[in-house]
Amino acid sequence: MATNRTFTMIKPDAVGNGHMGSILNDIISAGFKIKAMKYIQLSQAQAEGFYAIHRERPFFKDLVSFMISGPIVAAILEKDNAVEDFRKLIGATDPSKAEEGTIRRKYAKSIDANAVHGSDSDENAEIEGNYFFSQFERF
Ligand code: GDP
Repeated sequence: MATNRTFTMIKPDAVGNGHMGSILNDIISAGFKIKAMKYIQLSQAQAEGFYAIHRERPFFKDLVSFMISGPIVAAILEKDNAVEDFRKLIGATDPSKAEEGTIRRKYAKSIDANAVHGSDSDENAEIEGNYFFSQFERF
């Protein structure tokens, strides 16, 4: 069953380049409601745990060291058809292939430093939201 929630992170490149406010504005303007949000710097163990599914991929080490290189914003978002609509809003993983007007096209520089994360399924949205937020930290 489709749920109406997704999970996002504004990644260290976008925070470091001063795009945090613009990206949050794009997300809210697109109709997403923020149900939980925190501004944190991940530890190595937290980043490895989050991306455990990619452990065998050649870019895993680079991905983890990038994700702990500076603060991030983690948030649970709500909207009808949240997972699919959010993936459309952020665009393709590789920003050079992302459509004009998408968040990655506007704010990302490369496939590794690609500004934002968006869950790829309802199931993962639930798992990822639970990874960052307890039941007392969300609306
Ligand atoms: P997403 O769902 O669009 O975020 O893409 P994936 O689930 O395939 O990959 C997770 C994250 O790993 C991406 O958002 C990138 O930050 C990173 N990533 C994916 N492919 C590469 C790659 O070829 N090299 C590096 N360094 N990072 C990658």
